Amino acid sequence: MARVGGDEFTVVIRNVHHPVDTAKVAELIQAALREPLMAGGREIFVTGSIGISIYPNDGTDVETLLRNSDTALHRAKEQGLDSFRLFAASMNAEAVQRLRLESELRRALARDELFVHYQPVVDLATGEIQGMEALLRWRNAEHGLVAPSEFVPIAERTGLLSTIGPFVLKKACAQAKAWQREGNRVSVAVNISPRQLHHVDLVRHVVEALDGAGLEASLLELEITESSAMQNPEATIQTLNALKSLGVRVSIDDFGMGYSSLSQLQRLPIDTLKIDRSFVRDISTDPGDAAIATAVITLAHSLRLKVVAEGVETQEQLAFLAAHNCDRVQGFLLSVPVADDRCAELLASHRPGPWRSGRGGVG
Ligand code: C2E
Ligand code: MG
Ligand code: MG
Repeated sequence: MARVGGDEFTVVIRNVHHPVDTAKVAELIQAALREPLMAGGREIFVTGSIGISIYPNDGTDVETLLRNSDTALHRAKEQGLDSFRLFAASMNAEAVQRLRLESELRRALARDELFVHYQPVVDLATGEIQGMEALLRWRNAEHGLVAPSEFVPIAERTGLLSTIGPFVLKKACAQAKAWQREGNRVSVAVNISPRQLHHVDLVRHVVEALDGAGLEASLLELEITESSAMQNPEATIQTLNALKSLGVRVSIDDFGMGYSSLSQLQRLPIDTLKIDRSFVRDISTDPGDAAIATAVITLAHSLRLKVVAEGVETQEQLAFLAAHNCDRVQGFLLSVPVADDRCAELLASHRPGPWRSGRGGVG
């Protein structure tokens, strides 16, 4: 490490196998700088902006490498204090975008950028809302509204879900308690990522969220994906048993996309199967999808499980599912996911009563 002038330093990192390695070091440096310093009895806060260039992609001589890291540094400063930038030529645009998302996501919780929307799951027989699925949302100043399909995998890969996961659990439980106080006894469903499912602290986090909100366990449902359950069936069964003994309910999300062995499925202590929306999309026109959906419904019922069809967008899909004894439906036809302050309105509009005659859509 060398001081090249004023408040500028150069750090040389050897043995870089992938550009991401340099980003990791940049983050460590920034984390170290963020620690407050004591000077003359006062706390001083410093931040550092970092520009990165990589040999040989970004230059093969010192001048070019320094110039390119300086360009990256200026871009980093434009982005705000305490950020880093790689000289873009060293990576393709997509990787750069992912890294930028990652560095923004690290700050999302502290900056209050994460929130939860709720989408109703409606009982087909009664038209009542049986539960609400909590769906995480992220709004960032630079990137706007980012889809969970983009940032959840990043949060999962970087370990950030170990703080974001408990945040969603707490929010959702508090929300379900609030609905209950308003006279709506509906459960809330929270998505659990593969890493969360296999994390030693999952059960503790669930207990803390329930206790913190004062919510009875039977009003909380956890959604795990088929593939995460099948990754390690023995461990999954143990965890699910612990959750079930609390009274929490469990469903298998995106069912049909993984490769469940039916004998393993039967051993899982679960309550519900959610048919993946890719099978629902063409359910009323594609005989193959229709066959899969009806087979899943039959399978679920013979295992004494409830079935939810996801992604219901049309009356035709709804009619097909009703005719084939699907228990519950979820999708844009009923309602898009809504912010917490719109849930009361939604719950009020779905109180018991005739509903298949056309009303029922909010959103
Ligand atoms: P998912 O759990 O299968 O959630 C259902 C997704 O389908 C949601 O997407 C929802 O907005 C969307 N959807 C609902 N109805 C319809 C419809 O009629 N048509 C179509 N085309 N889509 C519909 P979203 O909110 O973008 O979430 C995507 C995925 O991200 C979720 O899939 C879930 O796997 C994951 N996710 C969301 N929130 C969390 C979270 O808090 N934790 C974890 N681990 N994963 C989450
Ligand atoms: Mg889900
Ligand atoms: Mg799903």
